[in-house]
Amino acid sequence: MENDKSLRNWLNALNLNHPLVIAGPCSAETEDQVLKIAHELKNSDVSFFRAGIWKPRTRPGGFEGVGAIGLKWLQKAKAETGLPMAIEVANATHVKLALEHDIDVLWIGARTTVNPFAVQEIADALENTDKIVLVKNPVNPDLALWIGGIERLYNAGIRNLGAIHRGFSTYEKTKYRNIPEWQLPIELQSRFPDLPLIGDPSHITGRRDLIQEVSQQALDLNYDGLIIESHIDPDNAWSDAAQQITPTVLKKLFEDLRMRKLTV
Ligand code: PEP
Ligand code: MN
Repeated sequence: MENDKSLRNWLNALNLNHPLVIAGPCSAETEDQVLKIAHELKNSDVSFFRAGIWKPRTRPGGFEGVGAIGLKWLQKAKAETGLPMAIEVANATHVKLALEHDIDVLWIGARTTVNPFAVQEIADALENTDKIVLVKNPVNPDLALWIGGIERLYNAGIRNLGAIHRGFSTYEKTKYRNIPEWQLPIELQSRFPDLPLIGDPSHITGRRDLIQEVSQQALDLNYDGLIIESHIDPDNAWSDAAQQITPTVLKKLFEDLRMRKLTV
């Protein structure tokens, strides 16, 4: 897959004159919340609306996602706004439901990429799909595990692939929730130059005041796009409240970033 130029086809087909933007809440919470955010993000340079339906929480007791009912809300949001939808899938059941509800982009989360059994199950369930499938780096700084996940999908005949850099867990206290370890995605980029690479400043930083600097770093490294969590009421979000930004702040962020033309 090293020299497979077709890996970029889905991105080229979008015909963007700026980096790709995926935006939306960490989690779908209510139908009203999903629809309100989607309406605020439509008619912008956001290409895909993101929302987690099943949330892999590190520890039990937190909000674990609304489940399959959220797929109906996303279908409605897509019908009303025209925005294609992106969700996280962590097993074959999620994949089946996502395909049944015509979700456009499926991403594999950091806690799933660490598990080759789970990734293989997802790859088998998606075999030969032309849906876009994005693979987040594993929680730990293990490049081989990230590459292995991408290869499992490629070997299942999936070509509309991409990687998401969401930072790496560390025991050290740092200003970031997940340290970027930029050298890992850079190595991934040099190994698979045609594999689209998307930065996830929301999960790297864990705090909204650092999103701009990390977004800029990713763009300066020639990343193909950004995935940013955006919520109408960030402080009261049911997950990842500290890192979400309003659609208005997102718009301002894009005005301030130095990049190939991008406006929201
Ligand atoms: C998310 O995108 O909301 C998420 C759970 O991310 P990650 O898998 O990167 O922790
Ligand atoms: Mn999140």
